[in-house]
Amino acid sequence: MILTVLGSGTAIPVPDRFPAGYRLSADTTEMLVDCGPGVLRRFAQSGGDLRTLAAVLFTHYHTDHCADLAALLFALRSPHFAGRPPLRLCGAKGLQRLVDTLTSAWPWLAPRGYELQIDERLPGSFALGAFEITAVPIRHTAQSLGYHCRAEGAAVALSGDADTCDELVELARGVDLFVCDAATPDGQKLDGHLTPSLAAEHAARAGAQALLLTHFYPECQGHDLVAQAQPHFTGPVHLAADLQTWKWNVPGARETP
Ligand SMILES: [Zn+2]
Ligand SMILES: [Zn+2]
Repeated sequence: MILTVLGSGTAIPVPDRFPAGYRLSADTTEMLVDCGPGVLRRFAQSGGDLRTLAAVLFTHYHTDHCADLAALLFALRSPHFAGRPPLRLCGAKGLQRLVDTLTSAWPWLAPRGYELQIDERLPGSFALGAFEITAVPIRHTAQSLGYHCRAEGAAVALSGDADTCDELVELARGVDLFVCDAATPDGQKLDGHLTPSLAAEHAARAGAQALLLTHFYPECQGHDLVAQAQPHFTGPVHLAADLQTWKWNVPGARETP
């Protein structure tokens, strides 16, 4: 399984961190988890090809996690992508309404030349190509889901935006990598988000193998977030960076980073 961080930032534009987006690949299945503004460009920069993108999973519908859905639907109408396999969109209740509203505002987003599948999910497990995925409700918005993704003998959990909750522990139970909201430094906690030490406490309770902090507001600049997290977690703590890649059980690949 390969994970590429496409966006480790937030709604606040900064030069080096795009809003939320992650690329996950296993065998021939390619999917995105979240698709904030600009993430499609990062996807291309990472070598991704929209002709083979199977699915987009949304953690919630804040714009920094889904604005590029409009750009994606418009791009896929191009004859360049005619005959591509169906695109599956997965997310909590509200996804159909979001697509309907976008298509009402921009009629030229209606699918043409390919099939769009809208899959509103309740918490629970489902298969997506090479992946077995479990969606877990997360405390952030009323319709937030975290995703536990397993494939090729590896498991990654992505919190999406998250505040403290036991469900995060369930989500990250024993994973190889827990990708977790750490929006602001310790002492500057925002409602609906975590800090490095809180992310680490959840990772420790879950028995995750490693922790990847992400979704950094500009307030994080100049703070040693790893030093804030590390006392609360015995495994390695890393900071996400755009276009950083992680690989597990890929022949010839170095375990990263
Ligand atoms: Zn966010
Ligand atoms: Zn949010």
